[in-house]
Amino acid sequence: MTATQASPQTLDTRALQALDSAHFLHPFTDHADLASRGARVIDRAEGVYVWDTDGHRLFDAMSGLWCVNAGYGRRELADAAHAQMMKLPFYNSFFQTTNEPAVRLAARLASLAPAVGPGTDGSPGWGFSHVFYSSSGSESNDSNVRMVRRYWDLQGQPQRKVIISRHNAYHGSTMAGASLGGMSGMHAQGDLPIPNITHIGQPYFFEEGLPGETPAEFGLRAARWLEEKILAIGPERVAAFIAEPVQGAGGVIIPPDTYWPEIQRIVDQYGILLVSDEVICAFGRLGHWFAYEKFGYRPDLVTFAKAVTSGYIPLGGVMVGGRVARTLIEQGGEFNHGYTYSGHPVACAVALANLDLMARENLPGRVKNDTGPYLAQAYAQLADHPLVGTAETCGLVAGLVLVKNKTGGPGGRPQRFDPALAVGMRCRAHCFANGLIMRAVGDRMIVAPPLIVTRADIDELVALIRKVLDLTLADLRGAGLMDAPAA
Ligand code: PMP
Repeated sequence: MTATQASPQTLDTRALQALDSAHFLHPFTDHADLASRGARVIDRAEGVYVWDTDGHRLFDAMSGLWCVNAGYGRRELADAAHAQMMKLPFYNSFFQTTNEPAVRLAARLASLAPAVGPGTDGSPGWGFSHVFYSSSGSESNDSNVRMVRRYWDLQGQPQRKVIISRHNAYHGSTMAGASLGGMSGMHAQGDLPIPNITHIGQPYFFEEGLPGETPAEFGLRAARWLEEKILAIGPERVAAFIAEPVQGAGGVIIPPDTYWPEIQRIVDQYGILLVSDEVICAFGRLGHWFAYEKFGYRPDLVTFAKAVTSGYIPLGGVMVGGRVARTLIEQGGEFNHGYTYSGHPVACAVALANLDLMARENLPGRVKNDTGPYLAQAYAQLADHPLVGTAETCGLVAGLVLVKNKTGGPGGRPQRFDPALAVGMRCRAHCFANGLIMRAVGDRMIVAPPLIVTRADIDELVALIRKVLDLTLADLRGAGLMDAPAA
């Protein structure tokens, strides 16, 4: 029997890998390369661990893909899906119809999203009373582009079309999502970005801070790239600025404290909309239900997805702030946009159960007051490791940079490895071999563990990280790629 004919029930790992290569085009994957090695087949999961079909247990320090905030094996989420499927598995919300889970979830999300106060320019504050649903982060950002443009049309300023984003941002993989994102590899395939989307630099002090510059000074300078771009384009043509509170897929880039207040001053001054893409950062990841609260800025639109259901079922959406919602509702007539699964009853029922669970276990509060600070302390110690140039955390996301030495770079900064050495991938190989899922973004190693982690779990995680750093260091020394240890 060939792999393609095999019955799924009787497959062993090698046969599954062959069938996978024969039929499954994976996202963001070099298929020829994958076929030559065979995909890791993940089979089951519990708590913070996943197991592959070869029986290896892995500490999933990436929460699946930044989404399994409630951890694996939460029966009440499965029960909520089952009950809703038996009652009403689907109905659309297009033709003046609705369903109970979608309504209740919209009201719940509105109650969780804090209102924003008046602006420094005297503009009024607003709440987030309305939700637009999709099934993913990418779709939600497509909806944002539609809503932003519709808003300015209704305001009588249709020339405001340009949306400004940042290099190395990630906003999804649809045409609009990939265009909003700032990933050069994605732009290189498929004639992206689409028109009227442009990018400024990212607030990444470790990479872009000048010798002698403090993080606070750099944060202001990076924010002012937005003002320079607005002035270069002409403020009357700029519709919105979109950004992740902390860049996730770009490598857990945590902006200096001065960054967001200055961004807020600039968007207020030029009257442009602010879109906070919280697909990773919402639902407790940074210690709050929504991340704009942590940084104290005032978005008009907030993108969410992933952890709204802890990844148990696809759901995404946009929290629509007062001034956009009022304009769309009171002046807009029909908004010609929506998805079959906008307000899917099963996805919304799972989200409600997930939010109940997160509230009952106080997961955002634990991250803010206990596990987040505990991880920060542990990372401060990791910074002493000879291979680590910087180690940073924010809530339960963390990144560390692998460096050749700590002082040999420009201005006495750490010296980076030649990217061709792919040191991050070497480290990642040690992670997998030692029961840890940690992601490599270039030489930046990142984690975002499930929010159910205890202090003991964090101890285990950090011990694993230290072990793989030691193994990577030994490897690099063995290959003559490290400077000799100080005598
Ligand atoms: N925005 C951000 C900030 C993300 O991190 C992601 C996914 N990692 C997306 C959008 C896209 O979400 P999805 O993959 O669900 O389309």
